[in-house]
Amino acid sequence: MTESHARPGKLPDVGTTVFTVMSRRAAESGAVNLGQGFPDYPIDGRLTELVQQAMAAGHNQYAPMPGVPALLEQIAAKIRRLHGIEVDAGSEITVTLGATEAIFSAIQALAGAGDEVLVFDPAYDSYDPAVRLAGARCVHVPMAPPRFRPDWERVRTALNERTRLVIINSPQNPACSCLDGEDLNELAALLRGRNCLVLSDEVYEHMVYDGARHESVLAHAELRERSVAVYSFGKTLHATGLRIGYAVAPPALTGELRKVHQYNTFTIATCLQHAIAGYLRERPDTGADLADFFQAKRDRFAALLEGTGLRLPRSSGSYFQLADYADLDTRSDVELSAALIDEAGVATIPLSVFYREPPPMKLLRLCFAKRDETLAEGALRLRQWAQARGTMR
Ligand code: GLN
Repeated sequence: MTESHARPGKLPDVGTTVFTVMSRRAAESGAVNLGQGFPDYPIDGRLTELVQQAMAAGHNQYAPMPGVPALLEQIAAKIRRLHGIEVDAGSEITVTLGATEAIFSAIQALAGAGDEVLVFDPAYDSYDPAVRLAGARCVHVPMAPPRFRPDWERVRTALNERTRLVIINSPQNPACSCLDGEDLNELAALLRGRNCLVLSDEVYEHMVYDGARHESVLAHAELRERSVAVYSFGKTLHATGLRIGYAVAPPALTGELRKVHQYNTFTIATCLQHAIAGYLRERPDTGADLADFFQAKRDRFAALLEGTGLRLPRSSGSYFQLADYADLDTRSDVELSAALIDEAGVATIPLSVFYREPPPMKLLRLCFAKRDETLAEGALRLRQWAQARGTMR
């Protein structure tokens, strides 16, 4: 046996992410995977062709560090179309390895020892470790079920002269709630006069339902000046394996972000960037149909689960749906999601793991970015499980 000289690592309390664990267990057991968020239907064949063409055309060496200019231009055009604002492609956009890299690089660039970073629980799992690796302190402000809305009074209390960054996420993963224009105004007012920046995770920007619109920090003149906004082609193109996202921020903030990006991932797959640029050139309205597409799936899935005893607070954004099982089972969400893989043959994500101090609740997150047959099979299995629980009690 070799002697271990390993020091404890920098994240001793962190294990493998709940998404990875659940997907692995689902694959091992043949469960319907409604846990980790990714589509199980094919991507647009045109994108496949464009990737093949880009590679065949020889786009196989390092891309420019900030991103392929043709893609940066397409992103700027998309922002102009969506929000009516001008973003400079050369100095305000950075292509990253998924939104996760954009978030990580932004946090490393902007927060450090002595700083506090404020996040809203239930917070996406990558925020807290990234903040701690930067040497900063992560301050968790809880949002309460069932509405999961920010309590701006609590934010006011949490803010102090050490607060360097506030991370917002709308549409929110995993809570499926959205910020409205008033929320952005509240945040802007709270940050006025403070040396505090905003990191806005907007990867589900196109998935906002029931006629509501996505409120972006980019379209908020005051917040825009102090924000890094983060997006994901994996979500918009139904291809989470692309691992291509981007960050949009004023030139000074973009400069800081790129200092980290260049040593973190350096550049992003060149052929994929060319392919996406070509795709957006051909289909400039990419993303415009996503709200209808996913709202139909949300509603179909909810209808399939009717009468099971699961309560489904209406998802206002993202491609997730929460399910309240309080009427069916007394186990904790962590226990139940682990057990459901075997008992029902369905993988889900427990909500409490996204809290530092979870409130009392019995909620699981289900992903509805799935083929209709997958949703039907998942719902059937949940119904059979619920019926068995009913007769057992
Ligand atoms: N964003 C995905 C989700 O919320 C997970 C991605 C991952 O596994 N890190 O399900």
